[in-house]
Amino acid sequence: MTPTIGASTLLDRLSQKRCDAAFIEALRRAAAARFLVLVGEKPVILSNEARDVASIRWFSNVELEALDFAAADALFLGVDRISGAGYFALAVNDHGDSRVGRAAELLRPLVDLRSIATQGIMSPDEVSLIGKAKSLAAWHDTARCCGRCGGVTTVKDGGWKRKCWACGQQLFPRMDPVVIMLVTDGHECVLGHEARFPANMFSTIAGYIEPGEDLDHAVRRETKEEIGLDVGEVRFVTTQPWPFPHSLMIGCIAFVAHGALEIDPQEIVEARWFGRADAKAMLDGTHPLGLWVPGKQSIAHSLIRAFADEAAVAGVDR
Ligand SMILES: [Zn+2]
Repeated sequence: MTPTIGASTLLDRLSQKRCDAAFIEALRRAAAARFLVLVGEKPVILSNEARDVASIRWFSNVELEALDFAAADALFLGVDRISGAGYFALAVNDHGDSRVGRAAELLRPLVDLRSIATQGIMSPDEVSLIGKAKSLAAWHDTARCCGRCGGVTTVKDGGWKRKCWACGQQLFPRMDPVVIMLVTDGHECVLGHEARFPANMFSTIAGYIEPGEDLDHAVRRETKEEIGLDVGEVRFVTTQPWPFPHSLMIGCIAFVAHGALEIDPQEIVEARWFGRADAKAMLDGTHPLGLWVPGKQSIAHSLIRAFADEAAVAGVDR
C-alpha cells in the first residue's frame, strides 16, 4: 500500500540537529543550499512542454536574492545524504507585500499539490516532500501569536518550533489525527457520498480522533454516527500524512458486527453497500453507472483496493 503522498525518503531530516541554530544557519547560507518555494501554498515546479512530467524547482540563495525573497526564516527540510547540502522550504505570500506579488508572477504557472498528486506527474518522493513543506508552512501561518498571552512568536529550530517572546511558551507543528475506515461485513463494503464530493464519487468514511479517544473508539464512534453501523473488530492497516493542511490519516478496516445502514444527513448524502466487482470497477473507472472512487494518491483508494483484492479483509471470524 503506497499512496502517492507519503513520507518522503529523499532527505535525512536530521531532526537531532535542528536546535543547533549555528549549524542550520551555516547550511542555509552555503552555496550548495537549495530552497523549495511555496507561493500561497503552491509549489514552484518545473515541467515539460506537455506538462505530463514535473519536478521541484530548487532555488539557490543567489536566485532568491534576485527575486528579493528573504530566506532567514526558511524551513529546514533536511540534508542530502551524500553531499550534506541543506534543503529548505520558503513560503511566501503576497499579503501586504507587493514584492512577492511581482516575483510570483515570474514563477507562474503554479499548480496546487492536490493536482500534482492526482495527475501523477511527479515522483511520489517529491510530492511527499512538497506535502511536508506545505503542512509545516500552513502551521506557521496560523501560529504567529501565542495562544496563552497573545505575544508574537518567532521561528526556532529551523522552523520546527515557535517560541513566544513574552511568556516563553513553545509551540510545535500541528498534526490532526484522522481515522479513515473501510467498513465491511467481509463480503461487501460501505462507501459514502458527501455533499462536497464531485458527482458520482464515493469514498470511505473518515473523522477526526477526539481528545481522550483511542483509535478503535474513534472508528466505532464515527462509523456509528455517520452510517449507523456497529463495528466489531478494527484492524489497523496503514497511515498517510495528508497535507491539506496537516492531517495524519490512519487507515483501518472496520468489521461490522450488526446494525442497519442509517446515514447522518449532516455528514453524508448517500451511503451504499458495494460488492468486490463494483469496487474493482469503481477503482478502474469502468463502473457501468459511472461511479468512481478517489485516485491512487489517497489512502481511501488503497483501502478500497485492499477490499477489492481481498488482501486485508478475508477470513475474519466474528
Ligand atoms: Zn506567550
